[in-house]
Amino acid sequence: MTVKCQKCNAHCCRHIAIGVDAPDDEESYDNIRWYLLHKNVWVFIDHEDQWLIEFKTPCRLIKSDYKCGDYQNRPLVCKNYPEEDELCEGETNEPAYKELFKNVKDFERYMKKRSK
Ligand code: SF4
Ligand code: SF4
Repeated sequence: MTVKCQKCNAHCCRHIAIGVDAPDDEESYDNIRWYLLHKNVWVFIDHEDQWLIEFKTPCRLIKSDYKCGDYQNRPLVCKNYPEEDELCEGETNEPAYKELFKNVKDFERYMKKRSK
């Protein structure tokens, strides 16, 4: 972790995002509604049209100075972030998503608009 990371308060260590099925049938649609009924859970579509679920929860290893508490042993996903030739979230003003759903209403509104 660098000075730049301390300045951004370890932003990328405060959530995790995992790919999920796009809502293209009844089950996947209903699953997204279920995710979004939970507090601190968002769903978004990234710039490659991948749907992801995001858990807004900090890593247990962030220290009070925003450094990693087990830097040598951090998971690969942390070691490899950001990928080569990419900027991390703290270096760009562009959001990681093109659509963001913070609750079921956001999601249903988007799906309604898309079906028109
Ligand atoms: S978002 Fe970037 S600057 Fe911020 S903690 Fe992560 S790697 Fe460091
Ligand atoms: S393991 Fe370290 S680098 Fe990875 S999310 Fe946790 S605090 Fe951040």
